Amino acid sequence: MIKVNHLKKSFGKNEVLKDINEEFSQGEVVVVIGPSGSGKSTFLRCLNLLEEPSDGEIVFEGTTLTGLNEKDLNQLRQKMGMVFQQFNLFPHKTAKQNLTIAPVKSKGVDKHQADQTAVKLLRQVGLGDKEDAYPASLSGGQQQRVAIARALAMDPDVMLFDEPTSALDPEMVGEVLKVMKDLAQSGMTMVVVTHEMGFAREVADRVLFMDDGYIVESGTPDMIFSNPQNERTQDFLSKVL
Ligand code: ADP
Ligand code: MG
Repeated sequence: MIKVNHLKKSFGKNEVLKDINEEFSQGEVVVVIGPSGSGKSTFLRCLNLLEEPSDGEIVFEGTTLTGLNEKDLNQLRQKMGMVFQQFNLFPHKTAKQNLTIAPVKSKGVDKHQADQTAVKLLRQVGLGDKEDAYPASLSGGQQQRVAIARALAMDPDVMLFDEPTSALDPEMVGEVLKVMKDLAQSGMTMVVVTHEMGFAREVADRVLFMDDGYIVESGTPDMIFSNPQNERTQDFLSKVL
């Protein structure tokens, strides 16, 4: 579904991604772990060209994204949902309106149909009773579930998550991870940057360990957590587990 060839990204003289080669298959759930500053967010943002790679290519569903014109790129981006640490909901729109704006405006979905989909998705994330609530009246966990539902409202083929639970109070982490786990079990292709090692162990098909701009190690959760081969992976895990 996504192929990454010799991806490099620098900010000025700071070479943040050094030579990334990776593939994500349809239906695969991949968790990306690694120390702060290792390039995880930059990698994720390069997948949908929120960051423009300095070199290399991203191929999504057979189309090379790097070098595409803005119009074609935006079309393909709609197939890649993204959820951030900060939920970034539209504050003056209700939960339901947050889900219908983009499908109606940028995909031309019929308003009535967008409403129906929104209600269905809010139920799916356990917020069927919050259609008309404004973000400020929702807890952090609820807001993040609305943000996930909003990304799903565009009917994406892949969902990218960048530390979706890092800004949450601890008691709200579980409800968001539960929604993500259900999504994984429904067959969604997912790339998830997280420090939630329990989620990685339980839900990931594959875990990538990033350090200093490289994917240092990749394997099943069991391989990475129980028998890491690389010294840097071992060192990182000894600090977080
Ligand atoms: P991680 O998500 O693993 O913590 P990031 O991808 O956010 O790592 O950051 C990796 C490096 O890239 C850091 O040194 C960071 O300062 C730098 N960086 C990230 N985004 C930018 C940016 N927009 N401009 C300049 N430097 C950036
Ligand atoms: Mg990050």
